[in-house]
Amino acid sequence: MHPQVLLKNRKPDRITTLEEYREGGGYEAMVRALKDETHQSIQDILMDAGLLGRGGAAFPMGQKLSTVLENAPYPRYVVCNADEMEPGTFKDRVMIHADPHQLIEGMVIAGCAMGAAHGLIFIRPEYENAARILSREVENARQAGFLGKAIMHTGFDFDIVVHRSGGRYICGEGTAILNALEGKRPNPRKPPPFPTFKGLWQLPTLVQNVETLCCVPHVIQNGADWFRSLALTPEGAGTKIFSISGRVRRPGCYELPMGIKLSEIIEDYAGGMCEGSEFKACLPGGTSTQFMPASMYHAVMDFKSLEDAGYRLGTGAIIVFDQNTCLVGATLNMIAFFVRESCGWCTPCREGLPYIRDLLQRIENGQGEPAFVDRLKEMCDHLPRAYCAFAPGAAAPVESLLEHFADEVNEHIEKKACPFKSS
Ligand code: SF4
Repeated sequence: MHPQVLLKNRKPDRITTLEEYREGGGYEAMVRALKDETHQSIQDILMDAGLLGRGGAAFPMGQKLSTVLENAPYPRYVVCNADEMEPGTFKDRVMIHADPHQLIEGMVIAGCAMGAAHGLIFIRPEYENAARILSREVENARQAGFLGKAIMHTGFDFDIVVHRSGGRYICGEGTAILNALEGKRPNPRKPPPFPTFKGLWQLPTLVQNVETLCCVPHVIQNGADWFRSLALTPEGAGTKIFSISGRVRRPGCYELPMGIKLSEIIEDYAGGMCEGSEFKACLPGGTSTQFMPASMYHAVMDFKSLEDAGYRLGTGAIIVFDQNTCLVGATLNMIAFFVRESCGWCTPCREGLPYIRDLLQRIENGQGEPAFVDRLKEMCDHLPRAYCAFAPGAAAPVESLLEHFADEVNEHIEKKACPFKSS
């Protein structure tokens, strides 16, 4: 069993209460940060710990904080991105249900590190229970003196509101959240300026994913070296919550060290492949990452190692496919999702994704032509010109389908039918 940090208080049937969280050392890191640390020292610890954003972008949190200028205007904001809508990803919900106070504590420490007095949790509307839990526990934390005016007699003010998202995937993009919170159309903003410079209402704003913020109290409590030592590779740092689904016996959320092998996650934690199933491919981090073929079965799962191998860890949502899954059909499903969720702001995404979907649909229906393959590649090449990372992310499964499973695509075209439906 690997060390449990973020899920150590997880219970099968209920959340961890404030009292239980405190008995386990909860809020000690916050009190220490507020009393003994400075903006700079907290940023330095997070930087030395190598804490990278767990929402998919993997940007160093300490570096983000360091871009908040000392003389930047007030008020400043900490925004927690809990708008988890990447298909296959459910880790943030599990963490909120398991132990909500580590998120609250992480937000207060992040606020302390940038001089922010306001925190907002932007949460997916379907997460009704999670929003209810957070609202209740924020109030409990306030009653206990961990939020509000002069927290623990330190003179530091910080409070949190829970804000429900409008319920579209693009609302969870780091900068679209800011427009959504301002009551505007939630299309992304093109940096620069970056949100830590001009974010919510043009004021300095830190936007960070739930899992990332949950790591913060543990890093402050135990130190940068401890956090790095949790990983199995020098390139990794800390643990990662992997949400695994698809053709495995025990789908679910597992907290494992960064740098663990994919094969170990599947065999030792997810119970192995389902009966009669052989591993054919997986998406390592949600539907905006590339298919990893069977040759990557023993891949090392940390941000840097996967990037060096040409893949992305994304959110760590592993979706496993077996030999009976039509990957053309699976990719079609994903693209249909992205078409529906595009904000429609820019042409390559608004027009390009439906065109890709239609080409895939025709291939899947047995109406494909050999020229479609080149057309798909050409369309995918256009998508990085889109305004935000949504469109290139949507292209990732398509590009990797054409790269690693070209035979399967060609078989659809040659047989003029889906081989998985006709066999
Ligand atoms: S890439 Fe898509 S989601 Fe992003 S701004 Fe353009 S239309 Fe909107």
